[in-house]
Amino acid sequence: MKVTQRISGDRPVFSVEFFPPKDEAGEAELWRAIRRLEPLDPAFVSVTYGAGGSSRDRTIRTTARIATDTTLVPMAHLTAVSHSRAELRQVIGAYAAAGISNILAVRGDPPGDPLGEWLPHPDGLTYADELVSLVRRLGDFCVGVAAFPYGHPRSPDPETDLARLVAKVRAGADFAISQLFLEPEGFLRLRDRMVAAGCDVPLLPGIMPLTTARTLRRGPELSGAPLPQALVERMDRYADDPVAFRAAGMDVTAEMCARLLDEGVQGLHFYTMNRSTATVELVRRLGLAARRPAVTAPG
Ligand SMILES: Cc1cc2nc3c(=O)[nH]c(=O)nc-3n(C[C@H](O)[C@H](O)[C@H](O)COP(=O)(O)OP(=O)(O)OC[C@H]3O[C@@H](n4cnc5c(N)ncnc54)[C@H](O)[C@@H]3O)c2cc1C
Repeated sequence: MKVTQRISGDRPVFSVEFFPPKDEAGEAELWRAIRRLEPLDPAFVSVTYGAGGSSRDRTIRTTARIATDTTLVPMAHLTAVSHSRAELRQVIGAYAAAGISNILAVRGDPPGDPLGEWLPHPDGLTYADELVSLVRRLGDFCVGVAAFPYGHPRSPDPETDLARLVAKVRAGADFAISQLFLEPEGFLRLRDRMVAAGCDVPLLPGIMPLTTARTLRRGPELSGAPLPQALVERMDRYADDPVAFRAAGMDVTAEMCARLLDEGVQGLHFYTMNRSTATVELVRRLGLAARRPAVTAPG
């Protein structure tokens, strides 16, 4: 099943993003989250692709296990960084062999320092649009790409950034998922600008539930999205009370999601950090949970 099919129904959906677990405890936590989310019928679940061989193997393994052991539609991330073309072909082949037909093609950041100098592998790719083309050439994949409501940190200006996003779609991307943000206007502006540029693929907002003061601080650092002053003022009074902060932060996130749904987004993509509680709460609160019976875990 393709992501584009799963997000094109007549009611909005949700999807979730995980990262490959580092150890057995992390693996158990991830699978608890997957099993809690499964009965809510996410449109798809994605697994990020990290730096380094072992993390990459874990992404392939985890995504393949989601394909075989669950009722969920998996999407594997793939990054171009530090890979030769031959290695990229092998990973894409491994995804196909595991029955994965959805790939999020991103460039990745230099290992160690995300803002450090980008050095392509001598036999590798330089930009995500090349990776989109490679994935499309190698199989019948549904391909997603990254989008940046406030521009990618390396882009000189919003117009250039939009042109790069359009180039990824022209290269064959079927949909885009946005970097996280803390107020909806930047996302909605980007969506309008994409349409104005003749680019009508779905753009899904990436949502990081605001559960801790750290998320509020780190979100803008990681994403380049501005930290709205009104939000700082609203949340400041809970700085010393994590329980109250979480409750208020979930209200903020739910309000933003409701606005995005009102604006007609086809789905919300939740960054889960391999936990399920906040996502389950939001999905229920927003009425996005499917009403289908719980699936019993095999084994
Ligand atoms: C939804 C989502 C999921 C992600 N998943 C992962 C993951 O699993 N693993 C991971 O490591 N990282 C992931 N990232 C982070 C991503 O790898 C970084 O943000 C990276 O810096 C940009 O990737 P990109 O695919 O947008 O790159 P690109 O589209 O290649 O853009 C990178 C920069 O180059 C510029 N550019 C693009 N094409 C050209 C061109 N032809 N000429 C000149 N400049 C150009 C762009 O404007 C931009 O500034 C994800 C990001 C998002 C939003």
